[in-house]
Amino acid sequence: MQIYHAPLRDMRFVMHELHDSASLAKLPGLEEMTPDVLDTVLEEASKFITTVLLPLNASGDAEGCHYADGVVRTPRGFKEAYQAYIEGGWGALSSDPAYGGQGMPQSASKLVEEMICACNLAFGLYPGLSHGAYLALKSHGSSTLKDLYLPKLVEGTWTGTMCLTEAHCGTDLGLLRTKALPQPDGSYKVTGSKIFISAGEHDLAENIVHLVLAKLPDAPPGVKGISLFVVPKFLPDADGSVGNANGVRCAGIEHKMGIKASATCQINFNESTGWLVGEPHKGMRAMFVMMNSERLSVGTQGLGIGEIAYQSAAAYAKERLQGRSLAGAKYPDKPADPIIVHPDVRRMLMTMRAYNEGCRALGVWVANALDRMERLGDCPERVEAEDFVALMTPIVKALFTDLGFESANLGVQTLGGHGYIVDHGLEQFVRDCRIAMIYEGTNGVQALDLVGRKLPANMGRSLRRFFHPVAAFIEAHGADPAVGPMIQSFAKLFGALQLATAFIAQRSLSDPEEAGAASSDYLRLFGLVALGFMWVRMAKIAADQLPAAAAGEAAFYRAKLATAKFFIERVLPQAGALLYIVKAGKAPLMGLEEAAF
Ligand SMILES: Cc1cc2nc3c(=O)[nH]c(=O)nc-3n(C[C@H](O)[C@H](O)[C@H](O)COP(=O)(O)OP(=O)(O)OC[C@H]3O[C@@H](n4cnc5c(N)ncnc54)[C@H](O)[C@@H]3O)c2cc1C
Repeated sequence: MQIYHAPLRDMRFVMHELHDSASLAKLPGLEEMTPDVLDTVLEEASKFITTVLLPLNASGDAEGCHYADGVVRTPRGFKEAYQAYIEGGWGALSSDPAYGGQGMPQSASKLVEEMICACNLAFGLYPGLSHGAYLALKSHGSSTLKDLYLPKLVEGTWTGTMCLTEAHCGTDLGLLRTKALPQPDGSYKVTGSKIFISAGEHDLAENIVHLVLAKLPDAPPGVKGISLFVVPKFLPDADGSVGNANGVRCAGIEHKMGIKASATCQINFNESTGWLVGEPHKGMRAMFVMMNSERLSVGTQGLGIGEIAYQSAAAYAKERLQGRSLAGAKYPDKPADPIIVHPDVRRMLMTMRAYNEGCRALGVWVANALDRMERLGDCPERVEAEDFVALMTPIVKALFTDLGFESANLGVQTLGGHGYIVDHGLEQFVRDCRIAMIYEGTNGVQALDLVGRKLPANMGRSLRRFFHPVAAFIEAHGADPAVGPMIQSFAKLFGALQLATAFIAQRSLSDPEEAGAASSDYLRLFGLVALGFMWVRMAKIAADQLPAAAAGEAAFYRAKLATAKFFIERVLPQAGALLYIVKAGKAPLMGLEEAAF
């Protein structure tokens, strides 16, 4: 069974107690977003998502999308669910009220996204891409494009796509061949073939707004010659009503491992009319707005799947009777004890739990910085927030999806053979979640972004946005009677991150392959330390609150402390091993001659 109850208490803890949502309400435009308002939104969202989207998760997976003659039909129930989704305004949460949005903070909207990803990842991709397209157009589109497209994307009657990938070009976008020819009226004729386009064609909305990377005739070679165009499926009239077809055709959908209810399309553009977004040849700048937002959202996909896998596995582990506790029978009146008594089953459940709560805490920290970045004018605090978001984006994308996949796998393992059987629903999480480590830039590419761009950026200034608060926290609370020992253990592994960072900075100066060789292990090391920081901070709050907490609340804080202890003592030490791996350098990777493979 796929079991999910939105972890609302933990979400409230992260938003209000850990990250001080009240201070967020001081930002321009967020004055009305009091903790009560945010709680109500999350509660209502959880009702909609668990009653409407969760029941369609397994059926959508079993049925998949249908393709015939250029037309794509989503699985039964998706159309009605999408209609209910947009009528409820769920797609407009964090969008600008000037275009019909609700102006909610990113933190709350990311938590709603987490619930959607948990309950129906494939469904979530349709509105998810619309939001990314909205952001790219909002930041780089002309006022005419904004006025025409943004209200439709926000209300959800039109959906968006991002059209980057071509058959011969995935990671290396400089190779793309799609062309755009300027027309006398200022528009362009776009011709080319894109593959793997999520939500490229479907029956949920009246129009589809493709954001397409293409090259102008005078384009310089490589990524410096890429421009971005908006190319609608149907040409809109000036008043926004849907007009003629625009030469955009879906040539087929992919048959794939997971997210089967999400249409992954080959889209052909045949002299389709498009309009330039941003400046010529500067398309990557505009597209990066969408890609960065999508990267944080893809990280949230990993977290969502990790959470539902944990909840489903924990429920099973309390019911399934096998063997006796090593400490003597816990339920002598039953034929066997539930498997949750076994330390190895505990290892799996605690790992999932610690990953999920840690990632939620880190994700909301980054989302809060996004809010400051978007809402503050020119000021040092805004620059600080920008640096922090830039630094953490590849970590959130790659770490959360790696851990989400590990959690989905642990979920299957907790159920034993039953986890492998479709009826229990756990194997779907493994299949669905796997793509998140690949799309929006593979996790390997995220790691290269971290070591190659983010570490050296502004002479290490971005890095200090993380290192300084960590060092200050250790200094302030390292001798705390309740959680000091935990903080001291954490401090040692923070030291490992500092050593690894210095090693990479020094080695990569003379040999960039050294940075490439260290990148994935370094990202993991950084990610574990970032989660460790969240865990010691959460432990400190829990320890402070516990003495005066009422019974139900005390149980919550005790669980926080127990999970923090597990993370710091049984997961974080891996960071020490990762330092050794980083320091091994490139030689063990590059030593074997290519011909020997
Ligand atoms: C279900 C699904 C949905 C998708 N949705 C979209 C979408 O909506 N829009 C869109 O445009 N695309 C989409 N994609 C495409 C996806 O983003 C790409 O598949 C992904 O970026 C990787 O490109 P590739 O498959 O060509 O792999 P390649 O680029 O060929 O990479 C293969 C391997 O080589 C590694 N590699 C490549 N270059 C380097 C390098 N320089 N250094 C180190 N390692 C490297 C990669 O990490 C990877 O492990 C989707 C794909 C799938 C499967």
